[in-house]
Parts: sequence; structure tokens; C-alpha cells
Amino acid sequence: MPTFQSYLKDIKASIQETDVATVRSTLETPGAAAVIDVREQDEYVQGYIPGATWIPRGFLEQKIEDAVPNRDALVLLYCASGNRSALAARSLRELGYTNVKSVAGGFTAWKRSGFPWKAPTVMTKEQELRYSRHTLLPEIGTRGQIKLLESSVLCIGAGGLGSPSSLYLSAAGIGTVGLIDDDIVDSTNLQRQILHSTDRVGMAKVDSGEKTLKGLNPDVQVKKFKARLTSDNVLDVLKDFDVIVDGADNFQTRYLVNDAALKLGKPVIHASIFRFEGQITVFPAEGSPCYRCLYPEPPPPEEAPSCQEAGVLGVLPGIMGVLQATEAVKLLLGLGQTLEGRLLVYDALKTKFRELKLRRDPKCPTCGDGVDRSKIELIDYVQFCAGG
Ligand SMILES: [Zn+2]
Repeated sequence: MPTFQSYLKDIKASIQETDVATVRSTLETPGAAAVIDVREQDEYVQGYIPGATWIPRGFLEQKIEDAVPNRDALVLLYCASGNRSALAARSLRELGYTNVKSVAGGFTAWKRSGFPWKAPTVMTKEQELRYSRHTLLPEIGTRGQIKLLESSVLCIGAGGLGSPSSLYLSAAGIGTVGLIDDDIVDSTNLQRQILHSTDRVGMAKVDSGEKTLKGLNPDVQVKKFKARLTSDNVLDVLKDFDVIVDGADNFQTRYLVNDAALKLGKPVIHASIFRFEGQITVFPAEGSPCYRCLYPEPPPPEEAPSCQEAGVLGVLPGIMGVLQATEAVKLLLGLGQTLEGRLLVYDALKTKFRELKLRRDPKCPTCGDGVDRSKIELIDYVQFCAGG
């Protein structure tokens, strides 16, 4: 009975081996060889040779024909150290592959030589289950879910709109959800702000929000900003996010977000609520139209009462925030038609949705003709909205 070592020695004597330097120079010519990574998932996720196709050893015989239909093509197999790939090379030869080489030293030697490698995003078994109702949709699939996991969305405000939007975005597996809010939870919030709970009264909203979102989905990184958005911090806060969900409850923040987002080229999903009515639209990254096309001037303060002054139906922000989350997922995946150029107005009392067309104003100061958006100036928005 041969030992594994003697068996392996026989196998290695019967197959061809190559070294990592040769693999590297071969990879410089596109199409010169098929490089197959035969390691297991837990090894592959740690990093792989760019350009390699990953087929775990257990599936190699079954899947090689799809990956390399031509049996005379040069196939380079690698594992961690060169043993499993040697066994794999022998199997492929038995399947009729005529030009198979096992990479001596494997990925370990590759890394040791200082050659470039990449770490892939792959879903764990838990993630495959968690997101299976997404990946079942051909429009999303595994590729779309991985895209969501690599995406980031900033929710401005962890209140009425920010609660449902951040909850559904986290449930959907958005990799990074940002929360910016300088407020603390108080008991008047709990009628609608479902991120928070009775035992968190007095806690900072971003801390309470993080707790809820991480509890819902531990995959999500919650980036907290316990601050008020201002002209001084807005560019820093917005710059790392793919999509901005504006759930602000005041005009100065909306103008500020609009101007900063146009400057940075970020799409904004805007919504607002008032008593029994909500509205939502999407301002695309390139403007056309933007918030200033919709509201060129802020309303006089006496005509813009807040929810605190005028009241709001508790369910209403739920509906509008969920619509915002839907638009965010669509934007990230490039799915369907967003609310770009359309203002959707929801009347909760009549249960009616109306849609208004929005047009870009060629004279808009932030997205109009000839405006250099990189030069948009961030002004004093409090003063601007106070009519100053
Ligand atoms: Zn505009």
C-alpha cells in the first residue's frame, strides 16, 4: 500500500508542472492559458490570482468543460501549495485535456514572489440563504446582491423617513448604511420613527439606529455621524457614498444636500412629508432636474411649518421612506425606471398617488446651462432659508 507521499510523488512524476513566474508571464498574453483555481471557498475568499477562474476541486471534472471547452488549450491549475493541483492535473488528463500543468508552490509561492493578487467578494453560506429571495430574481441574481453588498447609501436623518429607508436598505444587504443625525430619541418620535424604541429615549438617534440595523443584519456596516449637516462638513460626509437618501425635515438641509450632491456628482432621493401628504422624487447625479429646479426659492419660514408644528400621520413617513429605499436599490442596480424627472405625491386621506413632471430649469443656479458644478458654492443655508 503506497503512502500519500509516495502516491503524490508518482502523480507529480506523471504530470507537467510549471512555476509561478511562468504563470505570470503567460497571463500577460490574454487568452494564452486558462488559469484555474481549484481551492475551496474559504481559501479563495482570502485572495486569488487575477484572471483565474475559480472551480473548487470537488467540482472540477463536472465544470471544466464549461470553463475550458477546448481540450487542447493550455490549462494551468493552482491550489495553495501545488499538491491538490497536481492531483487535479492528472484527473483533467484522464478527461482528455492534453496540455495541463500544475503550478508548483501554488498560491503560496505566487504571494511569496510578490505577484499581484485580489480578494473577491463572494457570499458566505449564511448570505446565500439570507439574500436568496433577491438572488432568485434574475434581475438581481448573485451578481446584483454582491453589488448591493459593495454599495453604500447615506440616510440623512435617522427620524421618520430615515427609519424605514435605513431598515429596508439594511435588510436588502446594502454594505454600508450611513446615518447622520445630531438628535436624541424622545417619546414624541416613537409614533413613527421605528428605528427607535421606548427603552432608548434619551439615546443618540444614530446609536439607537445602529443597534437596530445591526440587529436586523450584521452584514451591514453602519457609518454614524452624530452631527448636523453643514456647509463645512457636507462634502466630507457625502463623498464616500454611492446614493444619498434625503430624509431631512427642513429646507436648509435640502438645499445644502442638493448643492453638495451636484458638486460631488451623487444622486439624491428626496422625500418630504407634511400632515397626510408625502412627496418623493429622484435627483440624478447629473442634476436635470435638481431640487432648485423644483423649489427655486425657499418658502417664507411662516409658510413652512414643520411636523412638530403641524403634525404628521405616523404611517406616512413609513410609506415614503420605503419608496426611497426602493429607488435607492434600483439606482444601485440600474433597474427599471426611477422617479427621475417625476414628482410622486401621495395623499394618504384619499389613498391617491399623483405624478407631476419635473423639468430642468435652464436658468437653475446649480444645474442650469453652462453651470460648472465643481464651482458650486456652499452658502449659509440657514440664512438663505430665513430669507436673508
Ligand atoms: Zn436644477
